[in-house]
Amino acid sequence: MISIIGAGPAGNYLAYLLAKAGNPVQIFEEHEQIGAPIQCTGLLTPMLADFLEVSDEYLVNRLKRIKVCAKQQSTIITLQNEELMVQRQWFDSHIAKKAEDAGAQYYRGHKFLDYADGMMSVQHDGKVQRIPTDVLVGADGPLSQVARSQGMLGQRKFYFGIQARMKYHGEPDMYEVHFGDDFPEFFGWITPESREVARIGLAVKHNRGMPYFERFLQRKGLSKADIIEYQSGIIPIYDPRLPVQKGNVYLLGDAAFQVKATTLGGIIPGMAAAEVLADALRNGKDYQKGLGTLNRQLRLHLRIRRVLDRFSDKDYDALIALVGKPRVKRIIESESREFPLMMLVKLLAAEPRLLRFARKLV
Ligand SMILES: Cc1cc2nc3c(=O)[nH]c(=O)nc-3n(C[C@H](O)[C@H](O)[C@H](O)COP(=O)(O)OP(=O)(O)OC[C@H]3O[C@@H](n4cnc5c(N)ncnc54)[C@H](O)[C@@H]3O)c2cc1C
Repeated sequence: MISIIGAGPAGNYLAYLLAKAGNPVQIFEEHEQIGAPIQCTGLLTPMLADFLEVSDEYLVNRLKRIKVCAKQQSTIITLQNEELMVQRQWFDSHIAKKAEDAGAQYYRGHKFLDYADGMMSVQHDGKVQRIPTDVLVGADGPLSQVARSQGMLGQRKFYFGIQARMKYHGEPDMYEVHFGDDFPEFFGWITPESREVARIGLAVKHNRGMPYFERFLQRKGLSKADIIEYQSGIIPIYDPRLPVQKGNVYLLGDAAFQVKATTLGGIIPGMAAAEVLADALRNGKDYQKGLGTLNRQLRLHLRIRRVLDRFSDKDYDALIALVGKPRVKRIIESESREFPLMMLVKLLAAEPRLLRFARKLV
């Protein structure tokens, strides 16, 4: 029996892949309701279609344009392939239903506590049960109790994402990203769900980000009275040194820190890693080795992030001025953000002045 802890996108997708292939699989989720509480913007590249049918069952919006803003400069990028915005409760439940239909056994309201000698301790209704398993997968998020119980936590570092779902009147097909000193160590975003509601947020590397968020709202002429609900949460910073396997225990998704450091998107990398893990478990392959391609991409995202972390307002203005050039824009509009190397190579060929920024990557 394969036991998965955590019914987020990574755990549900792995359960689906294994059950569909006829493997006995059970999944334990501490909440009664899958996907709740929501702590995510839910913005995905079109690469989602490589894993799942794109469906109105879980989509809330499709975004065709990005407005990239620095202190003085801004530019609008019109995407060739629209980006997808999901409602996480609907999205996570959609994948869980596919897994359940394929034969995966779901245990909602079951909290994983510990694992030793082939036995898990799981709490349900205030009682601790002992459950045997052959394989244990921790897909239980950034603070993974599976990793903790196996001494696999390592030196984890996080972003603190502050996000609120707010009343907001903007163009419904365009999201904004804001860079510069007002957003130290990351960027701010305004991502519309509709003409009236947007998910607005920023991320910082400490838990004192609220003043930055309040200033962001002020500058956009927004008031805290317009907040419908907060959807804040922590986001792992990818670290290639963190272990993802110990014997028959595996980590997946945020639990394994499989998140792009450029955008803090973790859903697509978690699903890509789930495919690798399903293949490893079914065919006796090496999980860590199988992650090679994904890890190379995640390492490049990390290096780009480290360069951006050193940018000043002036650097961002200079970069956005170059990004606004039609030959540069065309590449950004057509290349996937999932594969930054391909995009970088094409950008440097089109605009050698970008070398000034790319050189810092080496
Ligand atoms: C503010 C914010 C905005 C974000 N925006 C985006 C975005 O736009 N696009 C994107 O791709 N990513 C985004 N992310 C990141 C994204 O949310 C995560 O990368 C993604 O949710 C990871 O999926 P996962 O399945 O690995 O883990 P999770 O979604 O964290 O799922 C883990 C599950 O495990 C359960 N669990 C935890 N502990 C236990 C336990 N002991 N026993 C049983 N169950 C347990 C939890 O309840 C949860 O359901 C954002 C994150 C934040 C905080």
